[in-house]
Amino acid sequence: MGEELWRNLLSRIEESIGPAKFATWFEPLKYLGTQGQCWRIQVPNRFTREWLSEHYLPLMSHTIRQLAGPEATIEFEVGGQEPRGKERPESIVPAPPPTPETSPPPPGAEASPFNPRLTFENFVVGPGNQLAHAACLAVAQRPAEAYNPLFLYGGVGLGKTHLLHSIGHSIHETRPNLRVSYVSSENFLNDLVDAIQAHEVVEFRNTYRTYDILMIDDIQFIAGKERTQEEFFHTFNDLYNNLRQIVLTSDRPPKEMSTLEDRLRSRFEWGMIADLQPPDLETRLAILRKKAEFLEVHLPDEVGYLIASHLRADVRKLEGALNKLVLHGSLLGARTITEEMARVVLRDMLERSEPVITVERIQEAVCAHFKLSRELLTSNKRSKEVATARQVAMYLARELTKSSLPDIGRQFGGKDHTTVLHAYEKIKRLVASDTQLQGEIAQLVSRLQA
Ligand code: ADP
Ligand code: MG
Repeated sequence: MGEELWRNLLSRIEESIGPAKFATWFEPLKYLGTQGQCWRIQVPNRFTREWLSEHYLPLMSHTIRQLAGPEATIEFEVGGQEPRGKERPESIVPAPPPTPETSPPPPGAEASPFNPRLTFENFVVGPGNQLAHAACLAVAQRPAEAYNPLFLYGGVGLGKTHLLHSIGHSIHETRPNLRVSYVSSENFLNDLVDAIQAHEVVEFRNTYRTYDILMIDDIQFIAGKERTQEEFFHTFNDLYNNLRQIVLTSDRPPKEMSTLEDRLRSRFEWGMIADLQPPDLETRLAILRKKAEFLEVHLPDEVGYLIASHLRADVRKLEGALNKLVLHGSLLGARTITEEMARVVLRDMLERSEPVITVERIQEAVCAHFKLSRELLTSNKRSKEVATARQVAMYLARELTKSSLPDIGRQFGGKDHTTVLHAYEKIKRLVASDTQLQGEIAQLVSRLQA
């Protein structure tokens, strides 16, 4: 009977995703049997399991519930081994939400919204996200005590959502009695609109106000939406006054959210504001290694370096590149990823993002490093500190760009090419013996290549 339902499930999935994707992802699966309400499915490797979890889980869960009843869940087993150690079957369909009698699930939420992959354990900490990571850990350990609200901001793909999920998992494990809610600000908005239409605004408020921890992702989307801001303002106050934890993320700091009401802006600034900066080269490499380890593929250093040195600002792109490589490899039955393969498979990605180092970027980096203004750097001031910084910048410009000596001179406030050459030679000589300078230059170079 189970077999038949499984075939049924497969044919529905094939209908909805088409034969090509179906063949890649679903044909290799094998039905192992059911245990209670749990459907055990064998997948060939961890990569497939991860891919299925990320891309087809909602569809699979939905379909299986339709076919086998609302309690049905799915479990993947890698390689069909007996449950043991690392390969223990991992339930990827989260437990059903608590029954309405004890605690009503949030509007729109069907099951635990936390992605099993997005944990603190899987988060790589580097200089750009250290503060945000520490703040999130503190909140997970002492909700509503450490930082409230906690406001995280940073560009796309830098780990904001990952950190929110990590808080969710951590609290789930250590204090299962606390009610944690994670919503995108779009869901908050949609729930509100639905509630307004159904004349259930009171219920809406009551639901949101029962949480111990409310996390709203991408709060920037409520800026400019008056009614949502109004409602959120009251929710915020209620939670805050009742010592509940609030965590928000945004793509920019509160002061740059131009259409945000002032009273909300000031509340966002009450607690802790932590930013996420793009990861440096080392962190990017570490993220790739961690991910490769997770997928159980061998990632040679030169391939990791190739990807990490080209894809700089968005971790999602890094992961995308690795996924693409692994998928390509596994379709070809290849055991290892080679640099040659990486160059072919990732050609488009790599070409689009060749790091461009310009004299201007060098000047910015040097100014930041030596804490000088650009004006001073390109001036004629000769105090020792300024002169050294200027010479280092000229040295780097000569080393790292294709600009000619006169060109470089011009960009330093119209200096002569002999000045540039002199600076270059002096620093080159110094670097050979001065280890501190060596370190500083290495730092600058890695920052520029990041
Ligand atoms: P954001 O919400 O800031 O746009 P996400 O949290 O969705 O970014 O992160 C994008 C992807 O990059 C996710 O798959 C996430 O797991 C991964 N990621 C981001 N930062 C890190 C990190 N420091 N360590 C490991 N994975 C990361
Ligand atoms: Mg996000």
